[in-house]
Amino acid sequence: MKRKWILFVALIAFFGFSKANAQIKFDDKALGALQKGVTGLTFTDADAAKLSKATVDKLDSEHVIAGPTDPYTIRLNKIFGKYTSGYGYTFNYKVYIIKDVNAFATADGSVRVFSGLMDIMDDNELLVVIGHEIGHVVNHDSRDAIKAAYQKEAMIEGVASQSKTVATVTDSELGKLGSAMIDCQHSRKQESEADLFAYNFMKKNGYDVNAAESAFSILAKMSEGTQSDFITRMMSSHPDSKERAESAKKRAQTDGLYKPYVHQVAVVTPTKTTVKTTTKTTKKTTTKTTTTKKK
Ligand SMILES: [Zn+2]
Repeated sequence: MKRKWILFVALIAFFGFSKANAQIKFDDKALGALQKGVTGLTFTDADAAKLSKATVDKLDSEHVIAGPTDPYTIRLNKIFGKYTSGYGYTFNYKVYIIKDVNAFATADGSVRVFSGLMDIMDDNELLVVIGHEIGHVVNHDSRDAIKAAYQKEAMIEGVASQSKTVATVTDSELGKLGSAMIDCQHSRKQESEADLFAYNFMKKNGYDVNAAESAFSILAKMSEGTQSDFITRMMSSHPDSKERAESAKKRAQTDGLYKPYVHQVAVVTPTKTTVKTTTKTTKKTTTKTTTTKKK
């Protein structure tokens, strides 16, 4: 806290303080110098992992996480349980019970899948979409994203990052970094490379690569329909789903692996942790027991 005040005072002394306008205004030259200072900051892979971990911990604390016996968790573990390490990373997976259709992965190897996505994708399609997110981590897009978000925060605060270590990031800053991770904006190039990663991941591990076309077609269809509200995040941060479906199809055709994919019905029973339908369900059951809690 004290350090922040000292910095604040130092900044006022440096940039000048006008009584008429309490806001510190940077002229272009000062802003340029500040940008240079910020981008000159050494930000190692270890910093990225540490900052990502702190960001994900905060996001975890703000979301309803499916418990270990939750059908969503069981299903996700069944699909991704064997992919907990690889490419120099250790991956951990959790399901957020939330209607949004989304998933993201961060530079520390944390993979978070929204239950809304699991509801509309079958196992192979989930492998594609989550494989894409893992691709961002492996390709270091996630590292670059948290670095950029952190630098942006440092810029907004007008604090040269050299004087601020990752360890001193405030809770509100972590919150902003969290939003940046969820709504992550990667470049088109990074997106196609992550799609390629997902396709190769499917191929290498013997899955049906045609699930890629299917997964992206589902996203494309959803964005046109009434459920588009829940999909906004994934759509806004990713290129056109129709295009992605087309490229996946072409890729499969080139490999001689193309055949129209048949979407499997995802079997997920409602989560007991969040669904508050105890009164309705107990009325239906004519047995003496009021609630049947499956453990
Ligand atoms: Zn992406």
